[in-house]
Amino acid sequence: MRHPSWGRYPIAEDQRVTPVFWSHQLPDLTGEGGPFLPRGLGRSYGDSCLNPRGTLLDLTPLDRLLDFDPLTGLLRCEAGVSLDTLIRVFVPRGFFLPTTPGTRFVTVGGAIANDVHGKNHHQAGTFGAQVRRLELVRSDGSRIVCSREQHPDLFRATIGGLGLTGIITWAEFPLVPIDSHGIESESIKTRDLEEFFDLSEASEADWPFIVSWVDVTASGRGLGRGLFNRGRFASREWAERLPADRRLQPPKEPGLSVPFDLPGFLLNPFTIRWFNRLYYAKQLRDRVHAVGHFGPFFYPLDAIRDWNRGYGRRGFLQWQCLVPWAQARPGIRGILEEVAASGLGSPVSVMKTCGSMTPEGPLSFMQGRGVTLAMDFPMSGQDVLDLCNRLDARVRDVGGTVYPAKDARMSPASFRAFFPRLEEFLRHKDPALSSGFWRRVMP
Ligand SMILES: Cc1cc2nc3c(=O)[nH]c(=O)nc-3n(C[C@H](O)[C@H](O)[C@H](O)COP(=O)(O)OP(=O)(O)OC[C@H]3O[C@@H](n4cnc5c(N)ncnc54)[C@H](O)[C@@H]3O)c2cc1C
Repeated sequence: MRHPSWGRYPIAEDQRVTPVFWSHQLPDLTGEGGPFLPRGLGRSYGDSCLNPRGTLLDLTPLDRLLDFDPLTGLLRCEAGVSLDTLIRVFVPRGFFLPTTPGTRFVTVGGAIANDVHGKNHHQAGTFGAQVRRLELVRSDGSRIVCSREQHPDLFRATIGGLGLTGIITWAEFPLVPIDSHGIESESIKTRDLEEFFDLSEASEADWPFIVSWVDVTASGRGLGRGLFNRGRFASREWAERLPADRRLQPPKEPGLSVPFDLPGFLLNPFTIRWFNRLYYAKQLRDRVHAVGHFGPFFYPLDAIRDWNRGYGRRGFLQWQCLVPWAQARPGIRGILEEVAASGLGSPVSVMKTCGSMTPEGPLSFMQGRGVTLAMDFPMSGQDVLDLCNRLDARVRDVGGTVYPAKDARMSPASFRAFFPRLEEFLRHKDPALSSGFWRRVMP
């Protein structure tokens, strides 16, 4: 399968791929081969980066750095540049990303089109919130530079716009100065959901980076138990203890890889339950303090190349929701109870509180203060799809959202309920662009 999505479900039939090397050499988007869809590094899990019976425009060759001001940190780069490249080029020069998702193998264009968030959402907002300007090429041939001042409605629709408002050719956003690659972190064992909420509220002011791993197989009194992680860049004093030429190192390349699809039966409800128990138990102390490289802290999964093959040939689904703050305690509790009762587990589940910023775009997933929970379910069949539908219904009931970047199966009715500003987006959608996701939710 060429150009699958990260979850490798669903499979896109008859998908053509055209690489784009120069932004002024885009194919005629109204011509043969349509509909078209821009594509980054394919780290979206479901079908928002797939285009069955259409053409993917592979934009990863658009990978040039165009301008950088070391005084302000303002960077302009082409949209196919990966965050990994930015880290390798700029960390040794004392700059880091203003925000980053849990993998660095995504492109700038992909990060804007899904308006991705990171561990610092409660303080910094989304990736789209950092973007000052971008250039968009539309299927009518127009080339539009947009920002919050120029074409502001088109700019906002493009942030979180799922690649459907035009091709982003370049973007401008600031990098932030850092003294070193060091991160001071604490991992704190939480016994239940209440402890997660209490710690989140107590940590948000002083810790810019927060995320929790949750054991979603636990029930009863242990419901919502996990490991609460908080971090911040290490102090200048810590940095000064390192030799000057060793303070700003990029992360190590992935050392391990999964070279082939593992048999699907390895990840079953029984092994997943035990994996969760052992992972929770592996931290013996209530609180572990450490200072180390930011790589394992921000990007633990990047240590193993192609880890998605571990889910076997049928792939997996990720389901991620945002529950608004007013409903967060009962809402998240209900979701965890539903998952625990299903007996289907998720080996990797993360939860965090999100900031109260106004959403950047009408289709941005981050829609204000709330709690987000993400879970990975091996694709074992209808039981998983039924569970996700039940979880969607719970999120609809509390006025929350499910993340399109992770979705492979939400219904058209759910999509409309999750994104009440859809009509605002539709005014800017480019008619020549579409995706598997779009045709499913807007049949
Ligand atoms: C291990 C892992 C951890 C992750 N952690 C997080 C996280 O913490 N937070 C989070 O928000 N997400 C997270 N994600 C999801 C990931 O950040 C997003 O799916 C991201 O958008 C992927 O970028 P990409 O370059 O791979 O784009 P793709 O997946 O290839 O495409 C994503 C979307 O961007 C559009 N697009 C790509 N390039 C352009 C362009 N030049 N112009 C216009 N549209 C374009 C595509 O059409 C598509 O709609 C994670 C994914 C993985 C695999």
